[in-house]
Amino acid sequence: MSRDIRVRFAPSPTGKLHIGGARTAIYNWAFARAHKGTFILRIEDTDPKRSTEENTQIILRGLRWLGLSWDEGPEVGGAYGPYFQTQRGKTYNEALQYLIDHDKVYPCFCSKEVLDQKREAAEKAGQSYAGYDRTCRHISPDDAQKRIDAGEDFVWRLKVPDNRGAITFHDEVYGDMSFPSDVMDDMILVRTDGSPTYNFAVVCDDSNMKISHVIRGDDHLSNTPRQILIYEALDKEVPTFAHLSMILGSDGKKLSKRHGATSVEEYAKKGYLSDTMINFLALLGWSLDGETTIISRKTLAQEFSLGRITKKDAIFDETKLSWMNGQYIQRLSPAEWVEESKPWLARADTIGSNINTTHIVTSDDVKLNDNTIANFDISAGLDDIAQRPHFYETLFPLVSQRETYLTESQDKLEYMFWGPHAKLDKKSS
Ligand code: GLU
Repeated sequence: MSRDIRVRFAPSPTGKLHIGGARTAIYNWAFARAHKGTFILRIEDTDPKRSTEENTQIILRGLRWLGLSWDEGPEVGGAYGPYFQTQRGKTYNEALQYLIDHDKVYPCFCSKEVLDQKREAAEKAGQSYAGYDRTCRHISPDDAQKRIDAGEDFVWRLKVPDNRGAITFHDEVYGDMSFPSDVMDDMILVRTDGSPTYNFAVVCDDSNMKISHVIRGDDHLSNTPRQILIYEALDKEVPTFAHLSMILGSDGKKLSKRHGATSVEEYAKKGYLSDTMINFLALLGWSLDGETTIISRKTLAQEFSLGRITKKDAIFDETKLSWMNGQYIQRLSPAEWVEESKPWLARADTIGSNINTTHIVTSDDVKLNDNTIANFDISAGLDDIAQRPHFYETLFPLVSQRETYLTESQDKLEYMFWGPHAKLDKKSS
């Protein structure tokens, strides 16, 4: 029986919404839309030290700005909630109980110090550490219970089945994968404090939320065989996996801050359209037909397929991104352009009135006050746009062919509002 298509984007709110995460979200969203499926947003906030509410809000805002509406998740709810891992403790406890009842896990009392000593000893003896040596797997259930009752600290480990054989799966991007199971550690599923580990929580959630396809970055590829073992222990259906290759900067190195803006929010502030970002990011590893570059959101939502994702690393080409933004700006209707450019048009309008001066405003005033300008109260400008939108629409032809970023609406048009002197001055300076 084929499953309903249910996919999820599962960010950890330990940082902003970055380019790589946004691409993963776009692929999940587009796959759901193209296959009449359900797109779920799940916040993986189990790391209390690094997860913040602020980051969660930034991620939600970024997804909303991109126009990736989720069918289930924070703020919209759904039948499989809650959609924050920190609120799903009960489901992890239930899954653990199932594993205990079916003899698939055992309590391990080995302290971190003991494990560290074993690791060091192995290294000294020139052997590579082969993972946990399963000492506690041989403790009888009665003895284990006595130690638990006596208050000893312990974790729950998965009993990786003996003679399991290789763990194989077909990845929709990487093809047939095979991992030997004898190198799989009896991994920890539940920590001393009762909290689930990443692999355990993800499998519980994906299976309880009836996820059919797991589409995520290939940094998780090595987790997949471990997760498959957990699905098997829980007697749950294993989803289909599709791992996405890395995004590299134009120098061939992993995309990072060094290459400039990396968060979606920064691109919004730099005057990129969300349509541009969707189109550009979709093409980082996927293609419609190998040649089309301008692909609308609608086409993407109709045509996206996992089969056209490449396993080659994608190169983030900033020049192409700028070019594409110019293309998208040209294609806007005047009303759409006014809507998209509002913050910058309003600022262009308000600059003169915010500079508290009786003399002619010159570029020096502006230069001196660059930071201040960014913080100007633009409500007067926004009111003006609301009152006479048609006037603003008539400005569009003045810039439409020359604008690469919406931010330029401000530079190119501020003289319309606060006089030619500054503009002339600015040019000559
Ligand atoms: N929360 C994980 C991350 O942000 C993703 C987990 C997954 O997709 O399985 O990397």
